[in-house]
Amino acid sequence: MPNNQTVTRPVAPSPQQQTATPSAADTDIPVLTMRNIRHAYDGDKGHIAVEHVDLDIFPGEVVCLLGPSGCGKTTLLRIVAGLEQVQQGSVTLNGTVVGQAGMYHLPPEKRNVGLAFQESALFPHLSVLENVIFGLESLPLRARKERAMTLLEQLGMAQHAKEYPHTLSGGQQQRVALARALAPSPQLMLLDEPFSSLDARLRDQIRDDTLHVLKDVGAGALLVTHDPEEAMFMADRIALMRDGQIIQIGTPEELYCTPNDPFVVRFFGEVNELSGVVWQNRVITPLGDVDAQGMEDGTHVRVMIRPEALCIKAIDQEPAANHDNEHNSHVLMARLLGRTSLLHICAHGADGNETHMHARVPGVFLPQEGQPINLNLDCSQVFVFPVENNGL
Ligand code: ADP
Ligand code: MG
Repeated sequence: MPNNQTVTRPVAPSPQQQTATPSAADTDIPVLTMRNIRHAYDGDKGHIAVEHVDLDIFPGEVVCLLGPSGCGKTTLLRIVAGLEQVQQGSVTLNGTVVGQAGMYHLPPEKRNVGLAFQESALFPHLSVLENVIFGLESLPLRARKERAMTLLEQLGMAQHAKEYPHTLSGGQQQRVALARALAPSPQLMLLDEPFSSLDARLRDQIRDDTLHVLKDVGAGALLVTHDPEEAMFMADRIALMRDGQIIQIGTPEELYCTPNDPFVVRFFGEVNELSGVVWQNRVITPLGDVDAQGMEDGTHVRVMIRPEALCIKAIDQEPAANHDNEHNSHVLMARLLGRTSLLHICAHGADGNETHMHARVPGVFLPQEGQPINLNLDCSQVFVFPVENNGL
């Protein structure tokens, strides 16, 4: 929704305002504020890449922009960095407007933001240490070296300080690029899928180190990713995007446990979906009644049941009960996925219909095919949305 609290500044800020640095008393001022941002490539009639975006990042906070490919994450990051001009709305860093549509554009190099991208190119002719020192001209030589070595140590690269980029692995180069971006103590770090070119094990380690360094240096960070697990690992808050708009913003727990849209539920992993109709604040499903407080009788709804919401108890194989009792459910297949077991379930509804569902159970739980089971629902992982409003 367009936000009417747009920060307006009719004239360009004075040089003092432009270079203002935060003091301890400023800690409640967001390091980044975006208001009512809209961006279209190829002019106003072109494709709208982002729209109606409002976002604040507070000092020391890691915010992830999460969403599928093409939803506008990189565009937003480029607008903050100053690599794209603001076409509508405003961008404010530490209380100073740095970009306002048609009025003002502070060039990227004056914004005191650190940039790290998927393929962050290092200077090939400079050593690791020289690469990190590169952006620190304002410091005396000795302080530059100390600062660079501290960061290289934090990122596990101190022993490679004298080496040249071509001798390093992709992961090591990415660590150096992060150190280089962090060296000038930016108020805000902008990271665009910085780990996505790395293989899984390496990626986990770099993510962890990056999170700790960001928290140690206290920089605000805007991190772009399409990986929900990465976002939950890294973020204090997640802004989930679709088609150029932020659909929901909040802590990982808020998005996972109180999603405001079916898209949010689905984005965090596989989900069982059933349809139903509300009657007296409830929806009847093959797994029992589900709460639909506040929805009118007759509303067509989509019931979304996370696989971990299915609580399964194996019951004795009693042929008579199994044949006669249509409400029993049974296991179709079970697979160990590592930390969890995935069970394919055939749920028998009261109406005689059978529904194929997936359940996830912690640890090793591999019942035989045909095993009769009792099913219960953990309703904290069940979500009900009206069908007509959510574009299903
Ligand atoms: P994401 O980073 O989420 O994958 P982008 O911000 O890169 O998304 O792209 C958002 C939309 O803008 C996409 O539809 C993309 O094709 C389009 N787009 C991105 N960059 C350009 C460009 N330089 N020129 C034209 N369209 C672009
Ligand atoms: Mg991108």
